[in-house]
Amino acid sequence: MNPIWQRQIERAGLADIAAKVEREERLSFEDGLQLYQTPNLNAVGYLANLVRERKNGNVAYWVRNQHVNYTNVCNKGCLFCSFYAKPKDDPRAYTMTPEQAAQKVLNYGDVPISEVHIVGGVNPKLPYSYYLELLRAVKAARPNAHLKAFTMVEVDQIVRAAKKSPHEVYADLKAAGLDAIPGGGAEVMSERVHEDLFFAKPNAERWLELARAAHQSGIKSNATLLYGHVEQTPEKVEHFLKLRELQDETGGFLTFIPLSWHPEKTAMEELPAPTGVEDLREIAVARLMLDNFPHIKTFWIMNTAPVSQSALWFGADDVDGTIMEYEIIRDPARDRKQVLTSRQLVEMIVEAGREPVERDPLYNVLSRGLESVSDVETLLSNQKADLIQPDANINILTSGIETASQRLKERARNVIELSAR
Ligand code: SF4
Repeated sequence: MNPIWQRQIERAGLADIAAKVEREERLSFEDGLQLYQTPNLNAVGYLANLVRERKNGNVAYWVRNQHVNYTNVCNKGCLFCSFYAKPKDDPRAYTMTPEQAAQKVLNYGDVPISEVHIVGGVNPKLPYSYYLELLRAVKAARPNAHLKAFTMVEVDQIVRAAKKSPHEVYADLKAAGLDAIPGGGAEVMSERVHEDLFFAKPNAERWLELARAAHQSGIKSNATLLYGHVEQTPEKVEHFLKLRELQDETGGFLTFIPLSWHPEKTAMEELPAPTGVEDLREIAVARLMLDNFPHIKTFWIMNTAPVSQSALWFGADDVDGTIMEYEIIRDPARDRKQVLTSRQLVEMIVEAGREPVERDPLYNVLSRGLESVSDVETLLSNQKADLIQPDANINILTSGIETASQRLKERARNVIELSAR
C-alpha cells in the first residue's frame, strides 16, 4: 500500500480493517461500526475503491432505461414517503391502466431502451390480473426490453391478491414478462424503525423471505437501504449482515443501492437531508461490507450527478441510467421529468475518470465508451421528455442547481453560510 495512504489509514484507526481488505477477508459487525465512526472518510473511500477496482476494474456501468410509476395510490402511509396518495379522496391519486402504462413506454418508442423499470404504491383495489396485464402490455410495447418490476412490498400485495404461494406468483409474473426485481421496500432492516416509520409494510423477515423465493425462482434482484432519516448506525450494519447472509445462500442479488432519503413533502420534512459526504460514506461502507455483491450503484437521481461522479471513486461501479421520468421523489418546481441522455451519462463517467460501459439489467455488456451514443438519440430523448414536461427541461451537467436533491443541498449550504455570519 502507498505509504501516504498507510499513514492515513493508521491514523483513522482502520489498520486492522485494511489488513482484512488486503487479504480479502470478510468484515465483522464491529468493523462496520468503525467504518461509520472514523472521521476520515477518504481513508474509508480508499479501502472501498480497492475492493471496487478488484471486482470491476475501471469500468462504470450505465443503462438505457425508462421508469414507469403505474400508481401512486398506497395504503401503507410510510412517514418518509412523499410519493403516495391515499386510496380515498386524494386529488393526487392516479392509477394507469395497463394500456396507459404501455403508452408511456411507446412515448419513447424511438429512443433505444434496454430496461423498463416499473414500480408503484400498494393500491389495495388492484386485482391479481392487473399486475399480469400490466407486464404483458409493457412487454408488448417494448418486446426487446427487460422488465424490472415491483418492490418486495408490491410483491407481498400481489401474493395476497393472488392467494397463491410466492413461488407460484413468481412463475406467473415471469410468464407475463418479468425479468428481474428492483429490490426496494426493505428500507432499514430494524424492527424499531419499522415500527416508527413504516409499520404497515412487511417487516425485514418477510422481505428476505420474498427475496429468497424470487432467487429460488430464477429471478435476480437488487437490494436497497434508505438512509438519512431516523436510523442508527448499528441498524445499518445489521442490514448489511442480513443481506450478505441471504446472498451467501442464494447468490441472487446483483446490485446494492444505498438510497439517500429526501425529506421534502414528507411527514418528517423538518429533518435535514443527508449531505454529499454521507452519501459517499454509505456507498463506501456498503462496498466494504457487502463482499459478495457484484455491484454497488450510485443512483444519480437521489445522489446528484456530481456526487455520483465522486462515488465512482468511493466504491460505486454503476450510475443507473437515462430514467426519462421519475415520480418517487418529485422536484416540485420541475415536476416529473428527470433525464440524463446516454451522451450525458457517458460524458459524466469519462469526466470522472472511469470507463463507461453500457449494460443490460443483468450486466451483459451492450457497448463501450461512446460506441452506441448518437446525437440523434440525444435529440430524441430531449424532445420526448420536453413533450411531456415542456417547461421542465433539466440539464444537470451544464447548469447549476437543478435536481431536488441539489436544491436541498444548496439550501443547507445557505443555512450554514448564514449562521456563520
Ligand atoms: S414508500 Fe412505497 S409503500 Fe411506503 S407509502 Fe410510499 S409508495 Fe407506499
